[in-house]
Amino acid sequence: MKNGRIKALKCRECEREYPPAKIHACEECFGPLEVIYDIDSINISKPVIEARSKTLWRYRELLPLEDETKIIDLGAGFTPLQECRRLAEILKMKKLYIKNDTVNPTGSFKDRPATVAISKSLEFRFRAVGCASTGNLAAATAAHAALAGLPCYVFIPSNTERGKVLQAAAYGAKIVAVRGTYDDANRLAAQAAYEFDWGIVNINVRPYYVEGSKTIVFEVCEQLGWRAPENIIIPVGSGALLCAIWRGLKQFRELELINGLKTRLIGAQPEGCSPIVKAFKDNSEDIFPVEKPETIAKSLAIGDPGDGIYALRAIKESRGLAEHATDKEIIEGMRLLAKTEGIFAEPAGGVAIAVLKKLIESGDIGRDEEVVCCVTGSGFKSLEIFSADAASIIEVEPNFSSLKNLAMLGGIVKYG
Ligand SMILES: *Cc1c(COP(=O)(O)O)cnc(C)c1O
Ligand SMILES: [Zn+2]
Repeated sequence: MKNGRIKALKCRECEREYPPAKIHACEECFGPLEVIYDIDSINISKPVIEARSKTLWRYRELLPLEDETKIIDLGAGFTPLQECRRLAEILKMKKLYIKNDTVNPTGSFKDRPATVAISKSLEFRFRAVGCASTGNLAAATAAHAALAGLPCYVFIPSNTERGKVLQAAAYGAKIVAVRGTYDDANRLAAQAAYEFDWGIVNINVRPYYVEGSKTIVFEVCEQLGWRAPENIIIPVGSGALLCAIWRGLKQFRELELINGLKTRLIGAQPEGCSPIVKAFKDNSEDIFPVEKPETIAKSLAIGDPGDGIYALRAIKESRGLAEHATDKEIIEGMRLLAKTEGIFAEPAGGVAIAVLKKLIESGDIGRDEEVVCCVTGSGFKSLEIFSADAASIIEVEPNFSSLKNLAMLGGIVKYG
Protein backbone atom coordinates (compact mmCIF):
# COMPACT_ATOMS: atom_id res chain seq x y z
CA MET A 1 0.00 0.00 0.00
CA LYS A 2 1.34 3.41 -0.93
CA ASN A 3 1.27 6.13 1.67
CA GLY A 4 1.80 9.57 0.17
CA ARG A 5 1.09 11.66 3.22
CA ILE A 6 4.61 12.97 3.78
CA LYS A 7 4.82 16.40 2.22
CA ALA A 8 8.45 17.25 2.90
CA LEU A 9 11.35 17.30 5.29
CA LYS A 10 11.70 20.79 6.74
CA CYS A 11 14.71 22.38 8.42
CA ARG A 12 13.88 23.30 12.00
CA GLU A 13 16.26 26.27 11.78
CA CYS A 14 15.94 27.94 8.36
CA GLU A 15 12.67 26.23 7.30
CA ARG A 16 14.05 25.15 3.93
CA GLU A 17 12.12 22.15 2.59
CA TYR A 18 13.45 18.96 1.01
CA PRO A 19 11.82 15.92 -0.59
CA PRO A 20 11.54 13.08 1.98
CA ALA A 21 14.77 11.25 1.19
CA LYS A 22 17.72 9.65 2.97
CA ILE A 23 18.93 12.93 4.45
CA HIS A 24 18.88 14.14 8.03
CA ALA A 25 20.45 17.60 8.11
CA CYS A 26 19.87 20.82 6.19
CA GLU A 27 22.32 21.31 3.35
CA GLU A 28 22.13 25.07 3.89
CA CYS A 29 22.61 25.45 7.65
CA PHE A 30 23.14 21.88 8.98
CA GLY A 31 19.97 22.26 11.07
CA PRO A 32 17.93 19.14 11.97
CA LEU A 33 15.08 18.16 9.65
CA GLU A 34 11.55 17.21 10.58
CA VAL A 35 8.78 15.42 8.71
CA ILE A 36 5.89 17.56 7.47
CA TYR A 37 2.63 15.81 6.62
CA ASP A 38 0.04 16.77 4.09
CA ILE A 39 -2.58 17.12 6.82
CA ASP A 40 -5.39 18.02 4.40
CA SER A 41 -5.00 14.71 2.58
CA ILE A 42 -5.22 12.68 5.78
CA ASN A 43 -8.58 11.10 6.25
CA ILE A 44 -8.88 9.29 9.59
CA SER A 45 -11.64 9.17 12.12
CA LYS A 46 -11.86 8.08 15.73
CA PRO A 47 -13.92 4.93 14.97
CA VAL A 48 -11.48 3.83 12.25
CA ILE A 49 -8.53 4.17 14.64
CA GLU A 50 -10.41 2.47 17.47
CA ALA A 51 -11.14 -0.57 15.30
CA ARG A 52 -7.47 -1.17 14.48
CA SER A 53 -4.93 -3.46 16.16
CA LYS A 54 -3.58 -2.32 19.49
CA THR A 55 -0.10 -1.17 18.48
CA LEU A 56 1.18 2.30 17.63
CA TRP A 57 0.70 1.51 13.92
CA ARG A 58 -2.99 2.27 14.47
CA TYR A 59 -1.91 5.89 13.83
CA ARG A 60 -0.06 4.99 10.61
CA GLU A 61 -1.40 7.97 8.64
CA LEU A 62 0.72 10.13 10.96
CA LEU A 63 3.85 7.98 10.71
CA PRO A 64 6.46 8.59 8.01
CA LEU A 65 6.45 5.32 6.09
CA GLU A 66 5.68 5.17 2.37
CA ASP A 67 5.45 1.40 1.97
CA GLU A 68 3.36 -0.36 4.61
CA THR A 69 4.68 -3.79 3.60
CA LYS A 70 7.95 -2.73 5.26
CA ILE A 71 6.44 -2.39 8.73
CA ILE A 72 8.42 -4.27 11.39
CA ASP A 73 5.97 -4.58 14.26
CA LEU A 74 6.84 -6.32 17.54
CA GLY A 75 3.73 -4.85 19.14
CA ALA A 76 5.10 -1.58 20.50
CA GLY A 77 2.59 0.91 21.84
CA PHE A 78 -0.98 0.97 23.06
CA THR A 79 0.34 0.57 26.58
CA PRO A 80 -1.96 1.04 29.59
CA LEU A 81 -2.95 4.45 30.94
CA GLN A 82 -3.35 3.45 34.55
CA GLU A 83 -5.37 5.60 36.92
CA CYS A 84 -3.39 5.76 40.17
CA ARG A 85 -5.72 6.16 43.12
CA ARG A 86 -3.33 4.95 45.80
CA LEU A 87 -0.41 7.10 44.71
CA ALA A 88 -2.73 10.09 44.19
CA GLU A 89 -3.99 9.70 47.75
CA ILE A 90 -0.45 9.67 49.16
CA LEU A 91 0.47 12.77 47.14
CA LYS A 92 -2.85 14.37 48.14
CA MET A 93 -3.94 15.03 44.59
CA LYS A 94 -7.11 14.32 42.67
CA LYS A 95 -6.39 12.81 39.27
CA LEU A 96 -3.19 10.97 38.44
CA TYR A 97 -2.51 8.63 35.56
CA ILE A 98 0.62 6.67 34.72
CA LYS A 99 1.30 6.03 31.06
CA ASN A 100 2.96 2.67 31.61
CA ASP A 101 5.50 2.26 28.83
CA THR A 102 7.47 -0.32 30.82
CA VAL A 103 5.36 -3.02 29.13
CA ASN A 104 6.61 -2.41 25.60
CA PRO A 105 8.23 -5.41 23.84
CA THR A 106 11.78 -4.64 25.00
CA GLY A 107 10.76 -2.87 28.21
CA SER A 108 10.93 0.82 27.30
CA PHE A 109 9.27 3.52 25.21
CA LYS A 110 12.24 3.34 22.79
CA ASP A 111 10.38 0.56 20.95
CA ARG A 112 8.20 3.36 19.56
CA PRO A 113 10.90 5.22 17.61
CA ALA A 114 12.74 1.93 16.87
CA THR A 115 9.79 0.27 15.08
CA VAL A 116 9.45 3.33 12.85
CA ALA A 117 13.19 3.72 12.21
CA ILE A 118 13.83 0.06 11.37
CA SER A 119 10.81 -0.03 9.05
CA LYS A 120 12.10 3.12 7.37
CA SER A 121 15.62 1.62 7.15
CA LEU A 122 14.15 -1.29 5.18
CA GLU A 123 12.43 1.18 2.90
CA PHE A 124 15.76 2.99 2.38
CA ARG A 125 17.48 -0.39 1.79
CA PHE A 126 20.21 0.12 4.39
CA ARG A 127 22.24 -3.10 4.61
CA ALA A 128 23.00 -2.61 8.30
CA VAL A 129 21.44 -0.58 11.09
CA GLY A 130 22.43 0.59 14.55
CA CYS A 131 22.14 3.31 17.14
CA ALA A 132 23.96 5.38 19.71
CA SER A 133 22.32 4.56 23.00
CA THR A 134 22.24 5.29 26.71
CA GLY A 135 20.88 1.72 27.05
CA ASN A 136 17.25 1.34 26.14
CA LEU A 137 17.53 2.20 22.48
CA ALA A 138 20.16 -0.53 22.15
CA ALA A 139 17.67 -3.29 22.96
CA ALA A 140 14.83 -1.68 21.03
CA THR A 141 16.90 -1.27 17.86
CA ALA A 142 18.48 -4.72 18.20
CA ALA A 143 15.11 -6.47 18.64
CA HIS A 144 13.49 -4.76 15.65
CA ALA A 145 16.63 -5.33 13.54
CA ALA A 146 16.44 -9.03 14.46
CA LEU A 147 12.86 -9.25 13.20
CA ALA A 148 13.85 -7.35 10.06
CA GLY A 149 16.83 -9.66 9.48
CA LEU A 150 19.30 -6.78 9.44
CA PRO A 151 22.76 -6.71 11.08
CA CYS A 152 22.79 -4.26 14.00
CA TYR A 153 25.63 -2.27 15.59
CA VAL A 154 25.04 -0.61 18.92
CA PHE A 155 27.27 2.19 20.28
CA ILE A 156 27.04 2.66 24.05
CA PRO A 157 29.13 4.29 26.77
CA SER A 158 31.11 1.49 28.44
CA ASN A 159 29.46 2.22 31.84
CA THR A 160 25.95 1.36 30.60
CA GLU A 161 23.85 -0.89 32.88
CA ARG A 162 24.72 -4.58 32.33
CA GLY A 163 21.10 -5.62 31.96
CA LYS A 164 20.57 -3.31 29.03
CA VAL A 165 23.78 -4.33 27.25
CA LEU A 166 23.21 -8.05 27.67
CA GLN A 167 19.62 -7.70 26.49
CA ALA A 168 20.76 -6.00 23.27
CA ALA A 169 23.43 -8.66 22.74
CA ALA A 170 20.82 -11.40 23.17
CA TYR A 171 18.94 -10.06 20.14
CA GLY A 172 22.14 -10.59 18.15
CA ALA A 173 23.45 -7.02 17.99
CA LYS A 174 27.19 -6.29 17.87
CA ILE A 175 27.97 -4.12 20.87
CA VAL A 176 30.56 -1.36 20.56
CA ALA A 177 31.26 -0.14 24.12
CA VAL A 178 32.92 3.25 23.88
CA ARG A 179 35.26 4.31 26.69
CA GLY A 180 33.66 7.71 27.15
CA THR A 181 30.32 9.47 27.59
CA TYR A 182 27.15 9.12 25.56
CA ASP A 183 28.23 12.13 23.53
CA ASP A 184 31.47 10.30 22.59
CA ALA A 185 29.52 7.19 21.57
CA ASN A 186 27.18 9.37 19.54
CA ARG A 187 30.05 11.00 17.63
CA LEU A 188 31.58 7.64 16.75
CA ALA A 189 28.22 6.26 15.58
CA ALA A 190 27.74 9.33 13.37
CA GLN A 191 31.08 8.62 11.70
CA ALA A 192 30.08 4.99 11.15
CA ALA A 193 26.78 6.10 9.60
CA TYR A 194 28.62 8.38 7.19
CA GLU A 195 31.60 6.16 6.33
CA PHE A 196 29.78 2.80 6.11
CA ASP A 197 26.33 4.02 4.97
CA TRP A 198 24.62 2.33 7.92
CA GLY A 199 21.17 3.36 9.09
CA ILE A 200 21.96 4.66 12.55
CA VAL A 201 18.41 5.15 13.73
CA ASN A 202 18.88 8.20 15.94
CA ILE A 203 21.43 9.89 13.70
CA ASN A 204 20.92 9.61 9.96
CA VAL A 205 17.38 8.16 10.24
CA ARG A 206 16.53 10.64 13.01
CA PRO A 207 13.82 12.75 11.29
CA TYR A 208 11.80 9.54 10.81
CA TYR A 209 12.88 7.87 14.06
CA VAL A 210 11.60 10.68 16.31
CA GLU A 211 8.13 10.41 14.78
CA GLY A 212 7.51 7.10 16.56
CA SER A 213 7.69 8.72 20.00
CA LYS A 214 4.70 11.03 19.55
CA THR A 215 2.37 8.01 19.52
CA ILE A 216 2.68 7.91 23.33
CA VAL A 217 0.56 11.06 23.52
CA PHE A 218 -1.78 9.98 20.71
CA GLU A 219 -2.62 7.03 22.94
CA VAL A 220 -3.00 9.18 26.05
CA CYS A 221 -5.53 11.37 24.21
CA GLU A 222 -7.44 8.37 22.87
CA GLN A 223 -7.42 6.66 26.28
CA LEU A 224 -8.77 9.83 27.95
CA GLY A 225 -11.72 9.70 25.54
CA TRP A 226 -10.16 11.84 22.80
CA ARG A 227 -8.95 14.82 24.77
CA ALA A 228 -5.53 16.15 25.79
CA PRO A 229 -4.39 15.90 29.43
CA GLU A 230 -4.00 19.01 31.61
CA ASN A 231 -0.38 18.24 32.52
CA ILE A 232 2.07 15.66 31.24
CA ILE A 233 5.36 14.89 32.98
CA ILE A 234 8.09 13.67 30.64
CA PRO A 235 11.55 12.34 31.53
CA VAL A 236 14.05 14.23 29.40
CA GLY A 237 17.44 13.16 28.01
CA SER A 238 18.01 14.54 24.51
CA GLY A 239 14.60 16.21 24.57
CA ALA A 240 13.37 14.24 21.56
CA LEU A 241 10.46 12.59 23.37
CA LEU A 242 9.23 15.90 24.79
CA CYS A 243 9.38 17.60 21.38
CA ALA A 244 7.61 14.65 19.76
CA ILE A 245 4.81 14.83 22.33
CA TRP A 246 4.29 18.52 21.58
CA ARG A 247 4.28 17.86 17.81
CA GLY A 248 1.84 14.99 18.28
CA LEU A 249 -0.60 17.08 20.31
CA LYS A 250 -0.58 19.79 17.65
CA GLN A 251 -1.19 17.26 14.87
CA PHE A 252 -4.13 15.74 16.74
CA ARG A 253 -5.59 19.21 17.22
CA GLU A 254 -5.08 20.06 13.55
CA LEU A 255 -6.92 16.88 12.57
CA GLU A 256 -9.63 17.75 15.11
CA LEU A 257 -9.13 14.45 16.92
CA ILE A 258 -8.94 16.59 20.07
CA ASN A 259 -10.57 19.97 20.72
CA GLY A 260 -8.35 22.69 22.05
CA LEU A 261 -4.93 22.24 23.53
CA LYS A 262 -4.10 23.52 26.99
CA THR A 263 -1.66 20.80 28.02
CA ARG A 264 1.32 21.91 30.10
CA LEU A 265 4.52 20.03 29.28
CA ILE A 266 6.65 19.29 32.32
CA GLY A 267 10.25 18.25 31.66
CA ALA A 268 11.90 16.06 34.31
CA GLN A 269 15.67 15.53 34.56
CA PRO A 270 18.09 14.01 37.08
CA GLU A 271 19.96 16.71 38.99
CA GLY A 272 23.34 15.24 37.95
CA CYS A 273 22.49 15.90 34.30
CA SER A 274 19.89 18.64 33.97
CA PRO A 275 21.03 21.17 31.36
CA ILE A 276 17.48 21.81 30.12
CA VAL A 277 16.06 22.33 33.61
CA LYS A 278 18.93 24.67 34.42
CA ALA A 279 18.29 26.77 31.29
CA PHE A 280 14.58 26.90 32.19
CA LYS A 281 15.23 28.01 35.76
CA ASP A 282 17.85 30.58 34.66
CA ASN A 283 15.49 31.85 31.99
CA SER A 284 18.23 31.26 29.41
CA GLU A 285 17.61 30.67 25.71
CA ASP A 286 20.79 28.63 25.46
CA ILE A 287 21.61 25.24 26.85
CA PHE A 288 25.01 24.78 28.45
CA PRO A 289 26.23 21.18 28.08
CA VAL A 290 27.08 19.12 31.16
CA GLU A 291 30.59 17.81 30.70
CA LYS A 292 30.42 14.79 33.02
CA PRO A 293 26.87 13.62 33.76
CA GLU A 294 26.60 11.92 37.15
CA THR A 295 23.34 10.20 37.92
CA ILE A 296 21.81 6.77 38.43
CA ALA A 297 19.30 7.72 35.72
CA LYS A 298 21.70 6.64 33.01
CA SER A 299 19.09 6.63 30.26
CA LEU A 300 18.80 10.40 30.78
CA ALA A 301 22.55 11.08 31.06
CA ILE A 302 22.93 13.13 27.89
CA GLY A 303 25.16 16.10 28.66
CA ASP A 304 24.68 17.84 25.31
CA PRO A 305 21.01 17.30 24.44
CA GLY A 306 20.42 17.35 20.67
CA ASP A 307 16.87 18.64 20.98
CA GLY A 308 17.57 20.76 24.06
CA ILE A 309 16.66 24.20 22.74
CA TYR A 310 13.57 22.88 20.98
CA ALA A 311 12.46 21.09 24.14
CA LEU A 312 12.96 24.31 26.11
CA ARG A 313 10.87 26.25 23.58
CA ALA A 314 8.09 23.63 23.63
CA ILE A 315 7.96 23.75 27.45
CA LYS A 316 7.66 27.55 27.39
CA GLU A 317 5.13 27.56 24.55
CA SER A 318 2.93 25.22 26.59
CA ARG A 319 3.36 27.40 29.71
CA GLY A 320 4.91 24.33 31.26
CA LEU A 321 7.66 23.64 33.78
CA ALA A 322 11.00 21.92 34.18
CA GLU A 323 12.31 20.37 37.40
CA HIS A 324 15.04 18.01 38.53
CA ALA A 325 15.42 15.33 41.18
CA THR A 326 18.40 13.97 43.11
CA ASP A 327 19.45 10.31 42.93
CA LYS A 328 17.96 9.78 46.39
CA GLU A 329 14.63 11.28 45.34
CA ILE A 330 14.70 9.18 42.16
CA ILE A 331 15.11 5.93 44.11
CA GLU A 332 12.32 6.99 46.48
CA GLY A 333 10.15 7.69 43.43
CA MET A 334 10.81 4.23 42.01
CA ARG A 335 9.98 2.57 45.34
CA LEU A 336 6.86 4.65 45.87
CA LEU A 337 5.51 3.79 42.42
CA ALA A 338 6.23 0.08 42.84
CA LYS A 339 4.71 -0.12 46.33
CA THR A 340 1.56 1.85 45.63
CA GLU A 341 0.69 1.01 42.04
CA GLY A 342 2.55 -2.20 41.22
CA ILE A 343 4.62 -0.60 38.50
CA PHE A 344 8.32 -1.45 38.50
CA ALA A 345 10.20 1.37 36.79
CA GLU A 346 13.79 2.16 35.97
CA PRO A 347 15.30 5.44 37.28
CA ALA A 348 13.88 7.55 34.42
CA GLY A 349 10.40 6.66 35.71
CA GLY A 350 11.55 7.51 39.21
CA VAL A 351 12.60 10.94 37.96
CA ALA A 352 9.07 11.61 36.70
CA ILE A 353 7.50 10.53 40.00
CA ALA A 354 10.02 12.51 42.08
CA VAL A 355 9.37 15.64 40.01
CA LEU A 356 5.61 15.15 40.35
CA LYS A 357 5.96 14.96 44.13
CA LYS A 358 8.11 18.11 44.23
CA LEU A 359 5.78 20.18 42.07
CA ILE A 360 2.70 19.10 44.02
CA GLU A 361 4.42 20.02 47.28
CA SER A 362 5.60 23.38 45.93
CA GLY A 363 2.13 24.18 44.60
CA ASP A 364 3.39 24.56 41.01
CA ILE A 365 0.91 21.82 40.14
CA GLY A 366 -2.42 22.31 41.89
CA ARG A 367 -3.76 19.36 43.88
CA ASP A 368 -6.97 19.37 41.84
CA GLU A 369 -5.15 19.37 38.48
CA GLU A 370 -4.98 16.29 36.31
CA VAL A 371 -1.53 14.84 35.68
CA VAL A 372 -0.29 12.15 33.32
CA CYS A 373 3.14 10.85 34.26
CA CYS A 374 5.16 9.03 31.58
CA VAL A 375 6.94 6.00 33.03
CA THR A 376 9.23 5.15 30.18
CA GLY A 377 11.30 2.10 31.16
CA SER A 378 11.18 -1.09 33.19
CA GLY A 379 12.97 -1.68 36.49
CA PHE A 380 14.22 -5.07 35.28
CA LYS A 381 16.82 -3.18 33.27
CA SER A 382 18.45 -1.61 36.31
CA LEU A 383 18.02 -4.25 38.98
CA GLU A 384 21.35 -3.42 40.62
CA ILE A 385 19.76 -0.34 42.19
CA PHE A 386 17.60 -2.65 44.26
CA SER A 387 20.41 -4.96 45.37
CA ALA A 388 20.20 -3.61 48.95
CA ASP A 389 16.72 -5.15 49.15
CA ALA A 390 18.35 -8.59 49.05
CA ALA A 391 19.28 -8.01 52.72
CA SER A 392 15.61 -8.13 53.70
CA ILE A 393 15.08 -11.57 52.20
CA ILE A 394 14.51 -14.15 54.92
CA GLU A 395 15.29 -17.81 54.43
CA VAL A 396 13.30 -20.50 56.22
CA GLU A 397 13.55 -24.26 56.65
CA PRO A 398 10.91 -26.02 54.55
CA ASN A 399 8.55 -26.64 57.48
CA PHE A 400 5.66 -24.80 59.11
CA SER A 401 7.20 -24.33 62.55
CA SER A 402 10.04 -22.42 60.96
CA LEU A 403 7.53 -20.22 59.10
CA LYS A 404 5.20 -19.41 61.96
CA ASN A 405 7.93 -17.93 64.13
CA LEU A 406 8.88 -15.32 61.56
CA ALA A 407 8.64 -11.76 62.81
CA MET A 408 7.76 -10.53 59.32
CA LEU A 409 4.34 -12.16 59.56
CA GLY A 410 3.55 -9.35 62.00
CA GLY A 411 0.00 -9.02 63.16
CA ILE A 412 -1.50 -10.08 59.85
CA VAL A 413 -1.72 -13.79 60.58
CA LYS A 414 -3.65 -15.14 63.55
CA TYR A 415 -2.40 -18.38 65.06
CA GLY A 416 -2.34 -20.30 68.29
C1 LIG B 1 15.57 7.71 26.05
C2 LIG B 1 14.75 7.72 27.27
C3 LIG B 1 14.06 8.87 27.72
C4 LIG B 1 14.22 10.25 27.16
O1 LIG B 1 14.35 10.36 25.88
P1 LIG B 1 14.86 11.64 25.06
O2 LIG B 1 14.00 11.54 23.87
O3 LIG B 1 16.30 11.40 24.77
O4 LIG B 1 14.64 12.89 25.85
C5 LIG B 1 13.23 8.73 28.81
N1 LIG B 1 13.10 7.57 29.46
C6 LIG B 1 13.75 6.46 29.08
C7 LIG B 1 13.57 5.23 29.87
C8 LIG B 1 14.59 6.49 27.96
O5 LIG B 1 15.23 5.38 27.60
ZN1 LIG C 1 18.45 24.93 7.41
